[in-house]
Amino acid sequence: MQKFDVAVIGSGPGGYVAAIRAAQLGFKTVCIEKDKKLGGTCLNVGCIPSKCLLQSSKDYAWLLNESQEHGIEYKEAKVNFAQMMARKEKVVRGLVDGVAGLFKKNQIARIEGKAHFISPNTIEIDKKEHLEASHFILATGSEPISLPFLKFDEKVIVSSTGALSLTKIPKRMVVIGGGVIGVELASVYNRLGTEVIIVEMLDRICSPMDLSVSKSLLQILKKQGLTFHLNTQVLKATVSKDSAQITIKQDGEQRELNADIVLVSVGRRPYDEGLGLAEIGVRKSLRGYVLVDSSFRTTIHHIYAIGDLIEGPMLAHRASEEGIATVERIAGLKAHVNYMAIANVIYTEPEVAALGLTEEDAKNLLGPQIKVGTSFFKGNPRARCLGETEGFVKVIGEVKSDRLIGMHIVGPQASEMIGEGVMAIEKRASLEDLARAPHAHPSLCEAIKEACLNALGRPIHG
Ligand SMILES: Cc1cc2nc3c(=O)[nH]c(=O)nc-3n(C[C@H](O)[C@H](O)[C@H](O)COP(=O)(O)OP(=O)(O)OC[C@H]3O[C@@H](n4cnc5c(N)ncnc54)[C@H](O)[C@@H]3O)c2cc1C
Repeated sequence: MQKFDVAVIGSGPGGYVAAIRAAQLGFKTVCIEKDKKLGGTCLNVGCIPSKCLLQSSKDYAWLLNESQEHGIEYKEAKVNFAQMMARKEKVVRGLVDGVAGLFKKNQIARIEGKAHFISPNTIEIDKKEHLEASHFILATGSEPISLPFLKFDEKVIVSSTGALSLTKIPKRMVVIGGGVIGVELASVYNRLGTEVIIVEMLDRICSPMDLSVSKSLLQILKKQGLTFHLNTQVLKATVSKDSAQITIKQDGEQRELNADIVLVSVGRRPYDEGLGLAEIGVRKSLRGYVLVDSSFRTTIHHIYAIGDLIEGPMLAHRASEEGIATVERIAGLKAHVNYMAIANVIYTEPEVAALGLTEEDAKNLLGPQIKVGTSFFKGNPRARCLGETEGFVKVIGEVKSDRLIGMHIVGPQASEMIGEGVMAIEKRASLEDLARAPHAHPSLCEAIKEACLNALGRPIHG
């Protein structure tokens, strides 16, 4: 039987990054992946394909709606949907191959098959091969949640996976769930000409976000043509070969919505099917997350768990950071994950990026001991040149220390801008630090400086 120092189960951004770090630290490492392709949800059916389609549809929408203002004229713009999907596949393939290359370079053994624990030290793969390891890292990720009366057929009732691989642009799409995945995919199809209706049970979209961000995004997306039913429950559905009728309840009244595609994006749950965790004593929470301590150790000493499989925001970079920290701790190094510095991004247009505490959370925790500053992109010269002036930057600082404890951006390239906030939180920077740092002009990041100046009571452009 083969023996390894570290066996990683799952090759998503948690697993593959953990495997590479383990190999770098000199551990004899293996990664077991049940799918043919490495890279997990993120590379194959998550972050990467969704961002490809968001980019393609954004370019198309720009051509239709904004190019004329820039003096750019064209005869006819049309979508070749098959080519758009082919490009997405090509990008995914390139990155998946990249992971395989990194495994080779780092001499990581790769085994294709589904892992199952037959004892705390031994796993069986596809009921054939067996291997032993001194340390196991569980990185088996998550899966989409379906509704009891709306099971995925990935034709009419689709999960995000199905929505990323449609063969034609739907005429009408109902999206159940106004979370990050729901609004991103709704944006893609709205831009391509689909009539999109989002049904959300809560009174706001993207609910963990700062309230002002959630409200602003809702207004912007409505302007772009998306229809929202908030405070609305989906009661039942009738599904036929190529359409569905959804019954919703809003303000006590029932009504029907018809669609040729229904995207159910009501959340994801941790995935550990077939691993046999209960049998070896790895315990889970009531919601199905594997329980870990601050070193990512499960209830079995040499078995660790990371990423979507454990409680926390389901984000690729969180999974990767946890993978690195776990392996470094196994190696006896000091390592930790600073969750305050894990940014949450929504790749709508404009983008949304959030970091640290929301204003509501900060008020609940610190009461009046916070200061808040905002700067709007309509006053930012670079945003004006781009023609993308919607949104704002909001910074939250702690009064006594002046430390940055939250940053929330609705605006162009927010996913890139938030990097400044990440670094500031990592380095425990103050609002004064950010306000004094010279920012290039004209740049979108000047809005961060201005928001800090605003919080400090001395805005230049406010
Ligand atoms: C549509 C969509 C868009 C997203 N966009 C973003 C984004 O923009 N940014 C972001 O940060 N996050 C995004 N996410 C979330 C992100 O994809 C996940 O948080 C991330 O992939 C979790 O990584 P992971 O390594 O924990 O698990 P996963 O990526 O899910 O990988 C788990 C792997 O384990 C394998 N596996 C499972 N069980 C076994 C077994 N028994 N044996 C062997 N292999 C097994 C699976 O096949 C899979 O490959 C998105 C998700 C979706 C669905």
